[in-house]
Amino acid sequence: MDSRLKDLIQKSKRVVFFGGAGVSTESGIPDFRSEDGLYSAKTKYGHSPEEILSRSFFMNHTEIFYDYYKNNMLYPDVRPNKAHYALAKLEEQGKLKAVVTQNIDGLHQMAGSKKVFELHGSVLRNHCMRCHASYDIDYILNPENCKNGDNPDSCVPKCIRCGGIIKPDVVLYGEPLDQEVMGGAIEAIANADLLIVGGTSLVVYPAAGLINYFNGDNLVLINKSETLYDNRANLVIHDSIGEVLG
Ligand code: ZN
Repeated sequence: MDSRLKDLIQKSKRVVFFGGAGVSTESGIPDFRSEDGLYSAKTKYGHSPEEILSRSFFMNHTEIFYDYYKNNMLYPDVRPNKAHYALAKLEEQGKLKAVVTQNIDGLHQMAGSKKVFELHGSVLRNHCMRCHASYDIDYILNPENCKNGDNPDSCVPKCIRCGGIIKPDVVLYGEPLDQEVMGGAIEAIANADLLIVGGTSLVVYPAAGLINYFNGDNLVLINKSETLYDNRANLVIHDSIGEVLG
């Protein structure tokens, strides 16, 4: 781990980590907001990822939504990387109080983190829109009603119990954030004495707003490229998050 960061962690009691897409890309999950992600979505679907991953698109073009979603958002074989494991260990040692993440892959929990605020939900949880029955990611990838179809990718997963459409517990564009999750994230950040922000350029809502709740001693930014907040930080590291935390 970077020695300057190590010193700051050592003298802190309530560390909170706030992470963005960069934390997941190092596990091999591409950022759908990147130029590549935008280009491939436009080429194949004629829509941007933001359009496809919206509430209205889900409701009106559920088959296309699922085709895109299964091919671009679901990575059932990915594993946590050095950053995820380092954060889980810091929590176990009592240093880290919470992880706040914009990612939806569940990798922090897989690495052992307990207190995780998932601002944008999780692909690991899904529910029937009619009867609210819960389904895991394996069911979304291989639903009962899609087993004999011609194009399994665009087949919409349906509930075994009632036949209702299953929706991922992912916050789509045009949907409100979960207020309980937001409240928990704000409280954690407001009470932190050290806030480590990693793998995010802090432009995606609600990231920038959340940072403003931080009132503690030290702000650390770890990102490969510069962010608008670099001049507000006590320590800025332009490097891979896995290398810095690992
Ligand atoms: Zn149902």
